[in-house]
Amino acid sequence: MYNLNYRINSKILAEYVWQSDKGLKSKSRTLEFEVNRIEDLPKWQYAGGSGEESEFILVPRAVFRDPFRTEKDILVFCDRYLGNGEPHPLNTRAPALKIFEQTEKQVPMFGIEQEYVMTKDGVTPLGFPGSENVSKSVPRPEGPHYCGVGYTNILGRPLAEQHYRYCINAGVNICGINAELLHGQWEYQIGICTGIEAGDHLWVARYIMERLGEEHGIIINYDPKPVEGKEWSASGLHVNFSTHDMREEDGYKNIINGIERLKIHHSTHLQLFGEGNEKRLSGESLEKFTYGVADRSASIRITQDVFDAKKGYFEDRRPASNADPFVVTSALVKAVCLHEED
Ligand code: ADP
Ligand code: MN
Ligand code: MN
Ligand code: MN
Ligand code: MN
Repeated sequence: MYNLNYRINSKILAEYVWQSDKGLKSKSRTLEFEVNRIEDLPKWQYAGGSGEESEFILVPRAVFRDPFRTEKDILVFCDRYLGNGEPHPLNTRAPALKIFEQTEKQVPMFGIEQEYVMTKDGVTPLGFPGSENVSKSVPRPEGPHYCGVGYTNILGRPLAEQHYRYCINAGVNICGINAELLHGQWEYQIGICTGIEAGDHLWVARYIMERLGEEHGIIINYDPKPVEGKEWSASGLHVNFSTHDMREEDGYKNIINGIERLKIHHSTHLQLFGEGNEKRLSGESLEKFTYGVADRSASIRITQDVFDAKKGYFEDRRPASNADPFVVTSALVKAVCLHEED
């Protein structure tokens, strides 16, 4: 006689998650065994979609708890391969991992600030005319919304809060959230993460946000310039970055050296830092690479704390909200730590 109860309870639901050119995707499978190592998770196939490419292979790369199911169920973040074992052309993780493997000794660390806008229609921020929850014809000017409280200032907190808790429950390394300058705009921070993990954790945080959006009836807008006009804030993906040499005593000179390295690659990097970013960065900051202490208008900001401590990290303010963290983090490490072609 078998123990039916045991057999049911021993099953694990695994939600495989991956990036695709049509946004994040996921599908589920039941595992009959407990998983202790990521290598024990099966690879999986999925159909490429419109027919031109038939089948891709999903390879498990990072495992999280599934905050939507029970405690033993898991989210399995994967990257994509072709039948011949080559990474899919749009697999940004595989080339990033190569760079991180070459720079392991420098233990690159990242804190990523994800700004985003909540909408009902995919376009119009909550609180702006045209969004179904407001009847006012004029949007409220910026000022009271940033880190604001109260119904006049804040829309969408239930989703932002639930996302924060779900990320914690999943084991996603999220270190804070805040309401942003635009009505309906929010930010969460991922980190501090080492190497490739920054991208894994941010992509899974984005996945959890999409899933919760289904429940809240909210579509996340990652457009770098969600509302036209100078008076309206944009959405960024600030990337805070440090290497071992920047974090040690008197690492400040290495922070400056690192920033000088980024200057050389400025125009190449801008092409990697998100689509439509030119709408967000004003003409001058597009061409001119600048850095400064406590300067939030510069390409790179060094915080007052770091300047005083003479060690720590810097903040790259250039990447847009819709940038791919694998592309951005690996480009920074490559420029700062691998001195090949200049
Ligand atoms: P602000 O909004 O003022 O730019 P935030 O508090 O939103 O700042 O973000 C600061 C980020 O810096 C956090 O994500 C944090 O994890 C990150 N950070 C702190 N120290 C380091 C470090 N040594 N290396 C990389 N990132 C760091
Ligand atoms: Mn089928
Ligand atoms: Mn911030
Ligand atoms: Mn911000
Ligand atoms: Mn910032």
